Amino acid sequence: MANPIFERYLPKELAELVQDVEFTGKISDLPRVSEIIEAELDALAEPERPRQWRAAPVDIRLAFSWLAGHAGMLAVDGRAAATITAVCQRCLAVFEFAVVTEIRMVLVAATTDAAQQESIAGYDVWDLDEDSVRPIDLVEESLVMALPFAPVHDSAENCAAPVETVSSEGADIVRPFADLRAKMENRDN
Ligand SMILES: [Zn+2]
Repeated sequence: MANPIFERYLPKELAELVQDVEFTGKISDLPRVSEIIEAELDALAEPERPRQWRAAPVDIRLAFSWLAGHAGMLAVDGRAAATITAVCQRCLAVFEFAVVTEIRMVLVAATTDAAQQESIAGYDVWDLDEDSVRPIDLVEESLVMALPFAPVHDSAENCAAPVETVSSEGADIVRPFADLRAKMENRDN
C-alpha cells in the first residue's frame, strides 16, 4: 500500500483520519529541500562533496482536524525534524545540523477571502489551489521556511573559524539559503 503521506487527499478525507500520520522519510522525499542542499554543496570541489545527505532521516508527525469556529477549514498540527547537510558560512566546513519545525497550518480554498490572510487563529494559512493536497507538501513547505538564512556551526567550539571571525557579523556575509529560497519563491509565483 502506498504511503498516505505522498497521496493526494481532500481536506474532508484528512479530517476524517482517526490516527495521527507518523512517518520517517528521507531528505530525498523532499525535492525543494534537496535542491537547496544540492545547490550549496555544488560549490564544493567534487571530492569534498558529502555523499549520503539524501538518505538523512526526516521525522514527521501530522494531525488533522476541522478548525473550531471556522467552517470548512482544516487545521494541520504537527512537527517535522530533519538532518540537513550544509557548508558552515563561517569556517566553510561541511557539517550536519537538525532543523525542527512545529507545523500549524490551516488549509483554505484560494478562492475565498480567508486565503488573503496570513494567519487564522494562530495558524499559518495555506492556500489550496486545487481541491486536494499531499501531506508531504505541507511538511516540505514548513521545513523550507525553517531553514536558516546562513547555516553555521552552533558553537564556536565546533567551528574551525577563528573566534574574532565568529563574533563579527559581516555585512557581506554569504547567505546561500536565503538567496535560493528567494529565487524559489519567485519561481513559484
Ligand atoms: Zn563552522
